[in-house]
Amino acid sequence: METKIDFRSDTVTKPSPGMLEAMMQAPVGDDVFGEDPSINALESLAASLFRMEAALFCPSGTMTNQIAIKCHTQPGDEVICDESAHIYQYEGGGIAFNSGASVKLLYGDRGRINSEMVNAAINADDVHKARTSLVCLENTSNRGGGSCYDFEAIRKIKEVCASHQLALHLDGARLFNALVAKREKPDQYGALFDSISICLSKSLGCPVGSLLLGKSDFIKKARRIRKVFGGGMRQAGFLAAAGIYALHNNVYRLKEDHTHARLIGEAIVKKDFVKELLPVETNIIIFELEDNAAPQLVEKLKDHQVLAYAIAPNRVRLVVHLDITPSMAEKTIEIINKL
Ligand SMILES: *Cc1c(COP(=O)(O)O)cnc(C)c1O
Repeated sequence: METKIDFRSDTVTKPSPGMLEAMMQAPVGDDVFGEDPSINALESLAASLFRMEAALFCPSGTMTNQIAIKCHTQPGDEVICDESAHIYQYEGGGIAFNSGASVKLLYGDRGRINSEMVNAAINADDVHKARTSLVCLENTSNRGGGSCYDFEAIRKIKEVCASHQLALHLDGARLFNALVAKREKPDQYGALFDSISICLSKSLGCPVGSLLLGKSDFIKKARRIRKVFGGGMRQAGFLAAAGIYALHNNVYRLKEDHTHARLIGEAIVKKDFVKELLPVETNIIIFELEDNAAPQLVEKLKDHQVLAYAIAPNRVRLVVHLDITPSMAEKTIEIINKL
């Protein structure tokens, strides 16, 4: 049987031999007691990379986002985000479930909102209104097709937040893709956000794990919430070792994924059944077809051992990641050319 070329998500990667070796060698201890040397090393490595005070290792990106929202809000508060945001669309209604907060949705450009929109969405200090307390951005934006924020736009949003005493959280599940694509540095982001969530289990190739970054007192509070959410892990240093390995070895290479995505996008846009291709800025390719044509195309690709995902009846998504080799990318382009 031919091997499948799996573009369903960048979460499908399997740990490489080098990563597994690092995991095997990891010193571990009970992290709920703060005694896992590998987790402590990963948390300080990430904090220093972003020049933030502290970090917290968690089992998933959903958990890091939900902990951040819980720490930044009180029940009844309102959170501002784009309508496509993962925190709103794909976290099981967690904002309401975990934090008792409501959401003000903005309609941005491929997942990206701007300072004027944020400013207009802040509720007045009026007893009728929910208290606006948090703004969440997503970079890169998943449903925006891996779109990246312009850093200046984030700086302006930060100004609005600062003048209204709002916290600013970044869902940076794929932040490293944005950093590589825009040639930005993690500490630029560390300086602007009150909290940042990054995924190690997406393009960075770890089997499990996300990090939440922030000030020391924020992370202290987050550690308590993580325990409440059931996310306090014990000898999870084996997983943290994968994270350390990934931060050292799997960041710079993301540009290869971006090149593969661009080339595949160029093949897709030539097909007459494709109505629109979202700009391919990083590792995600999203394109639009006639109504209800997406599941059929996904089946057709599957017949050629190419796995994609219909994110809507008329939209298909492919995500490139480190288990997509140059020859797999080439083969995919040949298959698309022949469709
Ligand atoms: C994947 C993802 C997350 C976190 O997902 P988990 O599967 O819980 O790790 C958060 N935000 C975005 C934008 C994502 O793509």
